[in-house]
Amino acid sequence: MLSILSEYIDIGEIMKKYVFLLVCILLITGCASKKETHNIDTIIEEEKNILVGINYPITTVKKLDRIVQKDVETIYNSFKKEYEKFDTIHEKSELNIDYTYEIINDRYINITLHIFIDSSTLANPDHYMKSYVYDKLQNKLLTLHDLIADEDFSKFVSLLKTELLQKYKDCILLDEFKATITEKYNYPLFTFDHETLTIYFNPAQITASYCDILDIDIPMDQLKLKLPITPEVKLDTTINLLMPSKVIDPERKVVALTFDDGPSKYTGEILEILKENDACATFFVIGNKVEIYKETMQKMVAYGNEIGNHSYNHKWLTKLTETDLQEQITKTQEIIQSTTGFTPTLIRPTYGSISEKLRKQLSLDIVMWTVDTSDWKYNSVDRIVKEATKNTKDLDIILMHDTHKRTVDALKKIILELQKQGFEFVTVSELKEIKQLRNSNIPY
Ligand code: ZN
Repeated sequence: MLSILSEYIDIGEIMKKYVFLLVCILLITGCASKKETHNIDTIIEEEKNILVGINYPITTVKKLDRIVQKDVETIYNSFKKEYEKFDTIHEKSELNIDYTYEIINDRYINITLHIFIDSSTLANPDHYMKSYVYDKLQNKLLTLHDLIADEDFSKFVSLLKTELLQKYKDCILLDEFKATITEKYNYPLFTFDHETLTIYFNPAQITASYCDILDIDIPMDQLKLKLPITPEVKLDTTINLLMPSKVIDPERKVVALTFDDGPSKYTGEILEILKENDACATFFVIGNKVEIYKETMQKMVAYGNEIGNHSYNHKWLTKLTETDLQEQITKTQEIIQSTTGFTPTLIRPTYGSISEKLRKQLSLDIVMWTVDTSDWKYNSVDRIVKEATKNTKDLDIILMHDTHKRTVDALKKIILELQKQGFEFVTVSELKEIKQLRNSNIPY
């Protein structure tokens, strides 16, 4: 939202051009039942030979968190050990971990981790998953034998066999299939909801290693269960938002604060600091995290900030096929739009990594930065403040990450220092408009 102060042009004209936007979102009103949220831990790292993009959930259950966190650490450490040493001149090795999180009801939680490793030393990228079904009442992870009644386990195996052969007949290796799909196997990869039990197989379990993860859905009503799985939980999601209009003098020095890799548990605090100090920013968010921080995202828009696309799960975009790339972008656009009502026009490529090919593939405006605070690297708040303010000039774009506490601590000082230097804070789109206005011949 940008209105220009002018003595040459009728303000009304300008106001018509930058129409005052009122965003009112009335989302589905669910019944007011127990609401449960989770946080996300994010690790984004770029070293000489490796790229790491990890997101995993932090729930309200400490025991479950410890199990998931330990698995993530093991994967991360073994990846670093294996690939950090490869001096790959042309291509870095990449580890990406993404997740799904689902509350079945007050009692059960499903989590899956999707692990993706790519390196020029591998013939094919490595992609596999882990799953966790947690029973809060028994305070333990469930196995499939905890869920399905013993007398129905053979029925389950025969249903699974039929479905597997129908759906994946072209990629199944029959010897492995016969040896694995038995009543003795424990089927460690599964999730369920009120209607469906889903069983997964990682590549190279019963298929060749280049095949993708297999998934088979079995209707829950076909099986006798040991555990009760009702009732369903509905979340309360009523919200009403209002986006304020804003007046900017294009002759003033402006600067755009940008935050990557969020939203996170720190984003809410950042939004309040911005609001209290009459500032705004542009948040390049990861699509997969948007719904978890739904209220924060809605507040982000309501407080007059801008949202940009930063991929769905922080994959290294220059390495993706056209289909996978478009999926990363589109899914993120859709989830931002449905959660906040805001449609991003900007994208910041992950790791700031861009190729000529990627440039042509992206229809959104690509936004990099001109000032790097390196807040992901420096632990010192003062150092981050210094990086953000020491040489900052008119029209600069400052890079930060709303995934660190130290960034929250540095932000207030950064805003005060830049305001002292005479800067006004604008979103990236506003900054671009101001640039265009200054370069055009139209008097403002
Ligand atoms: Zn990033």
